[in-house]
Amino acid sequence: MTSIMWFRRDLRIKDNPALIQAGSEVLPVFVFDPVLWDSAGDSRRAYLVNSLAALNESLGGALVIRTGNPVDVIPALVAEVNADAVHIAADFGPYGQQRDLDVEAALATLSVPLVRTGSPYAVAPGRVLKSDGTPFRVFTPFYRNWAEHGWRAPARGSLPTFVSAPSEELPVVESPVDLPPAGEQAAWKRWKQFKKSALANYSEDRNRPDLDGTSMLSHSLKYGEIHPRSLLAELAPEDLVYIKEICWREFYADILFNNPQTVSRSLDARYDSIMPWATGPEAEKLFEAWCEGRTGYPIVDAGMRQLVTTGWMHNRVRMITASFLIKDLHIPWQRGQSFLCSIWWTVTLPAILTGGNGPPGAEQMPHLFIESSTRLPRE
Ligand SMILES: Cc1cc2nc3c(=O)[nH]c(=O)nc-3n(C[C@H](O)[C@H](O)[C@H](O)COP(=O)(O)OP(=O)(O)OC[C@H]3O[C@@H](n4cnc5c(N)ncnc54)[C@H](O)[C@@H]3O)c2cc1C
Repeated sequence: MTSIMWFRRDLRIKDNPALIQAGSEVLPVFVFDPVLWDSAGDSRRAYLVNSLAALNESLGGALVIRTGNPVDVIPALVAEVNADAVHIAADFGPYGQQRDLDVEAALATLSVPLVRTGSPYAVAPGRVLKSDGTPFRVFTPFYRNWAEHGWRAPARGSLPTFVSAPSEELPVVESPVDLPPAGEQAAWKRWKQFKKSALANYSEDRNRPDLDGTSMLSHSLKYGEIHPRSLLAELAPEDLVYIKEICWREFYADILFNNPQTVSRSLDARYDSIMPWATGPEAEKLFEAWCEGRTGYPIVDAGMRQLVTTGWMHNRVRMITASFLIKDLHIPWQRGQSFLCSIWWTVTLPAILTGGNGPPGAEQMPHLFIESSTRLPRE
């Protein structure tokens, strides 16, 4: 019997528990969902297309491409190939969770299950809780509990036989910036290079925007070309700083999972009503200057120009530019977020929201601003 493996943010065949779970005869599919596709900038679209081309190659050309609302497309494909199950890695984002529930309900009318195995995280969001059962809002205790919780070893198992069905062509998208090589093999190559040449000095060099001292793997993690569990298995206790960076990614996913409203609102709702945000033509000019790297502050402008030219920016400079937008220009973080989403090919929802807005970024950055302006009492 054929089952369907619906790839989303897990564009790899190694260490892919959902693929192993899918059985011996598997039809791999990727659905271009207009809701997600239409809101992405060209660099993000182009990277995704390149990553899908790489995945298709490792699947022996079997990847089926379809476009449309997954709630219609997936059940239609099930009927077309008479599949007995649809396998996925669970999605923990607000949109993805609801979409999966809707697809699950549509499949139920065909008596076909949607089987969730694994997630894009070493420890799935929602698993790490305080002793009173509530979620963490502060990184350090989250990290301690996350490390104590632990994670599974990379999944191993033989690959199924891949079968195919009529497929659309991958779209052709021209990227406005030079993109790095996409796909699982490229991700592993990048990781091996980083491990050999930069991991030993990472704890120091990651603070230096003038050096290539970081792994440049956020896009590979985002699309699941490599799983964080696979990286954790490659790391030793002395690589603690890198392990903690992986944990930051998981912490932010956990925050978003527990606070889905932060897609558009501040984690602390008081900030949305009390912040004296700048508005009007002068604020518009300042925002434009920020976007174009013309603020007159060299480190801010260098970062924003690097972003526009290459689609990437160093973490420390992301912190400076985001902080400058919010605390110095007093422009709402949501505006910065939509600008970054439009050109940042590596953008991930939990990290961009929380990096610029959520805790501790949110709790600290707006607090500094608020305390000097409105004297909002601390919680
Ligand atoms: C305003 C702002 C926006 C950001 N937006 C994003 C985003 O959209 N997508 C994204 O993946 N990261 C985002 N980050 C976090 C971080 O800047 C990038 O993950 C990192 O710079 C990517 O480069 P790298 O892969 O070389 O990182 P490395 O230093 O090599 O880190 C390894 C991996 O750890 C994770 N990581 C490291 N630092 C962080 C962090 N602070 N928060 C969450 N995960 C982290 C990433 O997955 C990264 O690939 C943002 C940070 C800020 C301050």
